Amino acid sequence: MTQAFRTIGIDIGGTAIKIAVVWNDGRVVESRQIPTQADAGPEAAQARILACIAALQQAHGLESAAMRALGMDSAGIIDSTHNLVLDAPNLRSWQRYPLAARLGAALGVPAFLENDVNAMAYGEWHCGAGRGVRDLLCLTLGTGVGGGLVLNGELYRGASGAAGEVGHMSLDRNGPRCACGNFGCLERYVGAQYIVARAQAMLERDPRSSSLRDMAANLITPLALTEAAAAGDGIAAAVWEETGIWLGVALASLVNVLNPERVVIGGGVAQAGELLLAPARRTILERAMALPAARAEVVTAALGNDAAVVGAAMLALARAGVA
Ligand SMILES: [Zn+2]
Repeated sequence: MTQAFRTIGIDIGGTAIKIAVVWNDGRVVESRQIPTQADAGPEAAQARILACIAALQQAHGLESAAMRALGMDSAGIIDSTHNLVLDAPNLRSWQRYPLAARLGAALGVPAFLENDVNAMAYGEWHCGAGRGVRDLLCLTLGTGVGGGLVLNGELYRGASGAAGEVGHMSLDRNGPRCACGNFGCLERYVGAQYIVARAQAMLERDPRSSSLRDMAANLITPLALTEAAAAGDGIAAAVWEETGIWLGVALASLVNVLNPERVVIGGGVAQAGELLLAPARRTILERAMALPAARAEVVTAALGNDAAVVGAAMLALARAGVA
């Protein structure tokens, strides 16, 4: 058993950077946020990140060497071997800037960068809803639909670091065009904006009364649909039912391919909980092969917004050989 110590994780988003002091078992001690100011470039952000880390170190009496490693994550395509952002739409000027190496050098610890959804999957596997299994599939449902894989107890990145893009698994070759260029991708059926579009289409063709009819169009969100369904709104419930079936169709294929022990569903859309997961589970049982379908446990994520920052920190410890 490794002795308890604290480390730091950094989650770099397009608008905010989250910096957290984390125990080596994944518990968060304190988390702070600073603005990314992506347009000001990575060098300016580097100085602000170091200032925030110094403040956290002072507040918690945390010496750099005691952290053992520094874990970071960011959206986009990441070269995790060289710890570089290769392609991230929100962080164009940051591409190939050695932020991890510079921060690691400043603090005197090895620093590692990982894709944010991979970090989230690893966090849930290490100390969240995926704890204790060897084979885990993790999905994040929001505006975009992402995925991460822990297979045989290790994060699976694939040949170019792009593994786990379950949102761009095509479910219908004649389906609607996706931003990625393909047709009928899962994201086009369960991404937040398409759930809202489904609600609007149902309101037009279903004559039943619904609290959603009194709402301004821009107030109909996945959260509003969850609240309406929980209050007994039949149309909102039908929207989740159909969304859950589409999710289940995709998961049935993934369950056949990967035979995971657990499927963890996170992201804002997952706040729908059983409204979404119950039809997804039922569809997996109806469509996937019996043995893998019976084995795959579908649950909601446990770490919420901390999953990526915790996962980045835990993954850095593992990569540094400390964990
Ligand atoms: Zn796509």
